[in-house]
Amino acid sequence: MNNQHIETVRKWYPRALTSIDTVNRLLDTIERELELKPSQLMHADSMCCDDVNAIQYPPRAMEMLGPFHLGGLNGFPFAGITGMNAFAHHVPEDGAVIIFYAPHIGITKNGTIGEISRIGQSKNSACCGAAKGALSRLIEGKIIEGNISSLDFQMNTIEQIFLHQKERILNAESQSFEATEVMYEAIDERIEVLVKETHYPCKYVLLAGAIFINGDKDMGSFCQYKKFDCLNLETGERRSLMNEYYQ
Ligand SMILES: [Zn+2]
Repeated sequence: MNNQHIETVRKWYPRALTSIDTVNRLLDTIERELELKPSQLMHADSMCCDDVNAIQYPPRAMEMLGPFHLGGLNGFPFAGITGMNAFAHHVPEDGAVIIFYAPHIGITKNGTIGEISRIGQSKNSACCGAAKGALSRLIEGKIIEGNISSLDFQMNTIEQIFLHQKERILNAESQSFEATEVMYEAIDERIEVLVKETHYPCKYVLLAGAIFINGDKDMGSFCQYKKFDCLNLETGERRSLMNEYYQ
């Protein structure tokens, strides 16, 4: 059954699916292409710690082992090398590691991007709040190059990521949309580095990179994949499963 709000979401993300369909397709593709069942998959996610992501987390993802949470604010993998190594060593020997990573953004019923209506609240609030906060500081020119404090380490890191793409974000038609694209690229780049630095006692590493889209409280959530790669650790071969995923 199709979600009645999917067309609103697809104005921004043309290949978005509901997050329920996303996980169904993910697990079906892995079973079809690699003959692995959910119980053979050690799942890590790198998503924003925002409570809405817990509320709107697709239940079927729990059929995999995990999740091990790599993410902090807006999905950046703040758990770093230590986090990667920890979960990598929990993988079933005949199985695979799968890392799902995504910044998130809200889209309301009427198509407003960067905010949502949350349970028990009459007014909309920012989503991702951290990204919107960093974007406001970018617009106001308040981000100082190199300023990363221990008191607000994760937020300061996002601020620096945005500062380094200042013109691109500020000149965009939708600054919230563009800031999320910038965030995705920063997360993707970091995940690729972390994956190379980590040893996995299994055959496959699966990487699913996406934008996670939160709807209003009664809309559910959505997801648009940007990358779905399978790394064969025995042969060193890397292959995209995007066509198989969308078939
Ligand atoms: Zn967030």
